[in-house]
Amino acid sequence: MKYTRRKFVKTLGAGSALLMLSAIPTFSEPLFTGDKKLGVALVGLGNYATHELAPALQETSLCYLSGIVTGTPAKAERWRSQYNIPGSNIYNYENFDKIIDNESIDVVYVVLPNSMHHEFVIRAAKAGKHVFCEKPMALSVKECEEMIDACSKAGVKLFVGYRLHSDPYHKAAMKFRAEGDSGILYVQSEFGFKIGDPTQWRLKKALAGGGAMMDLGIYAIQAARYSIGKEPQSVTAQEYKTDPQKFAEVDETITWQMEFPGGHVSNSYTSYSTPANNLYISTERRWFNLMPAFNYGGIEGRTNEGELNFPRINQQAVQMDTFSNCIINNIESDASGKEGLKDLKVIEAIYKSIENGSKVKV
Ligand code: NAD
Repeated sequence: MKYTRRKFVKTLGAGSALLMLSAIPTFSEPLFTGDKKLGVALVGLGNYATHELAPALQETSLCYLSGIVTGTPAKAERWRSQYNIPGSNIYNYENFDKIIDNESIDVVYVVLPNSMHHEFVIRAAKAGKHVFCEKPMALSVKECEEMIDACSKAGVKLFVGYRLHSDPYHKAAMKFRAEGDSGILYVQSEFGFKIGDPTQWRLKKALAGGGAMMDLGIYAIQAARYSIGKEPQSVTAQEYKTDPQKFAEVDETITWQMEFPGGHVSNSYTSYSTPANNLYISTERRWFNLMPAFNYGGIEGRTNEGELNFPRINQQAVQMDTFSNCIINNIESDASGKEGLKDLKVIEAIYKSIENGSKVKV
């Protein structure tokens, strides 16, 4: 089986006539793989695993759903029959380490609450499995470093579930700065929504590590970093809270500014109470805008030259195929653990800036 450029374009679906060839997102070469698909075990069968990742794994070309890890026997039974998963590939959180003996599982995909990423990534690495880990990679820089270290010692690859790295609109955002004048680069990035159930783990500091910033602000940080193509030198952040009861443990709304080498600046917003979904990039003579910017699908874009019309892709399927291609062909990924670590460095600086009321070096 070859994962060719033609096949990739086909997976992009209908409407590819609208796509300018120069803008097609491509995998790093080589694109060849053997005839074996990588077996992926999902750990944590919550919303994202159930409604996005498992269906996406029915569309992937280089990997497939081979196992599950869950604490709920009823879910195990449901998934076993729905996806035809053999009983020998079903684990719980206690016997998970036995996965080391399972040759049909090559990759462990950690889709648990944020505080559990650190433990399960390290356990997966010790079991000799490559790891896909959901964002945010962990709760702290220290945890990220330990995860990277564990994967490196075990000789396995670690990727973070940054699905937008696979999206054509965001690939275009990454390229925008390089395509014309190199003057002033300003980025505005905003991601927020109104969060429901006040009892969910996302509002508990021990499980989530933080609020809107950890969950949604990370997209705005990512977008600013990959649009500007440099690492921020310093941040200044402000926090706002309208519901101190609901958001007793975590942040509700944060605004922050980042300064980049060369004088580039970004201004960002994240919130668990007010919807926002926008990426705007400005250079001296050109601009680029995505709104909505961060959805699974339905991203809309325009530049000073007109509308952007990329076909809709299954971000999660392309993400997992891209990661699998990196494993099969031993290629570095732009969504590796090192990328996850960079975002946690920025997040720690943002929280410190709020605490100190001053500008903080990243
Ligand atoms: P969820 O609450 O729907 O699912 C969490 C799963 O973890 C559930 O199956 C639950 O049973 C299990 N779990 C195990 N121990 C738990 C505990 N102590 N408390 C709560 N649940 C526990 O969450 P989700 O939306 O699927 O998010 C899971 C991860 O995926 C998070 O890290 C989140 O940030 C990430 N995520 C990423 C995206 C993306 O677009 N990349 C989208 C959604 C979620």
